[in-house]
Amino acid sequence: MRKIDPKRFKIAKRHTSREINRQIALTLIRTHQPVSRADLARLMGTRRGVVSILVNELLAEGLIFEGATGEGGGRGRKPTFLYIDSRERYVIAVDVRATRTYLMATDLLGKPLVGVTSFATNRTLAVLISNLAQKIRAIVADHQTVATCQGVGVVVPGMTDPKSGRVLHAPTLGWRNVNLKDPLAAAIELPVHVENSGRACALAQVWATRDHAHIGDLAFVSVSDGVGVGIVVNGEILRGQHNIAGEFGHVPLSIDGPRCSCGATGCWEAYVSNLATLSRYFGRNPNEQKPMSAEMATFTIEDLISRARNGDGKALAALQSTGRYLGLGLASIINAVDPGRLYIGGEITAAWDLIESSVKAALAERALTDLAARTEIRTVSVEEHPRLRGAAALVAAPAFAAPMVA
Ligand SMILES: [Zn+2]
Repeated sequence: MRKIDPKRFKIAKRHTSREINRQIALTLIRTHQPVSRADLARLMGTRRGVVSILVNELLAEGLIFEGATGEGGGRGRKPTFLYIDSRERYVIAVDVRATRTYLMATDLLGKPLVGVTSFATNRTLAVLISNLAQKIRAIVADHQTVATCQGVGVVVPGMTDPKSGRVLHAPTLGWRNVNLKDPLAAAIELPVHVENSGRACALAQVWATRDHAHIGDLAFVSVSDGVGVGIVVNGEILRGQHNIAGEFGHVPLSIDGPRCSCGATGCWEAYVSNLATLSRYFGRNPNEQKPMSAEMATFTIEDLISRARNGDGKALAALQSTGRYLGLGLASIINAVDPGRLYIGGEITAAWDLIESSVKAALAERALTDLAARTEIRTVSVEEHPRLRGAAALVAAPAFAAPMVA
């Protein structure tokens, strides 16, 4: 699916579909709201009459509503403004991770409606689907008098085929070619969309931004149990021929490095995942089969960050090593796809002030030009729930996005 860039489209003519004009109108209302009909006609570069027909259709379907009159001033009727109607429809977002699974309900614009809930992930697919269905039914029951659920977006730490909804390979979950979408959709009787977590984060970032200079080319790196990467080139999510494009988490930093969840050695993920950082702190080989000590088993990356802030030099060193490895991998992304901006999500962003100089030094060392080494990096905090926003965008964004008709 393509994101429409409201500055780079042409209104669909005879040979293109009405559906595209609807999506263009919805996208422009979403990114400019509140917007008057006259402004919408100007933005679409078309006649008022054409816009009126479209707007009346969208109003009748309840996709938009007319709000307060503006400060028109002067004589004559003041214009009413159009808004996306996000009040009676909502989306359920699900983030499946190797350790825990998170759920959140959002409105159609991705704004959270209720707090995040979570439960321990059971990696047996049938059990996970049954646990998920139970939680989703509870959310639907809670909302049934006020709003309709439009669908469920699920992000997973693995490669997916967005058409079939199959999870092709999710190393940290131990899944290969499993069907998550159909059994879940059947259990909850709602549409389900499944996508790789890094790609969903990139999609949500494109969708949320109003800064159109940077929506076309970006990379999103989500660091948690594993490393998920989403790449957007020319406004489109990069997928490749086999849905594995952009899997920088499994590009090796060193072939002699630690073993990765995918079975290979030295992948970027094996150096920068939360487990890799914790293992470095405890001086433990992450592939060791021996059970962890009680302290290690319950110790989190947040604990490590707070120790580093309280003067634990070993904790700081472990984080800064991760910063360096993070920078080396980011340099590979820059050298391969040269994005306009890099986004980093995950718990490690809470330590950004402690690791930023290590990240930047590694970038300066490896990026192929000085300008490329200065590619803007933005962190997205855990509190912003980038993966859940990504999951919500899977359901909400298709109503707005349209192919570029240029
Ligand atoms: Zn790997």
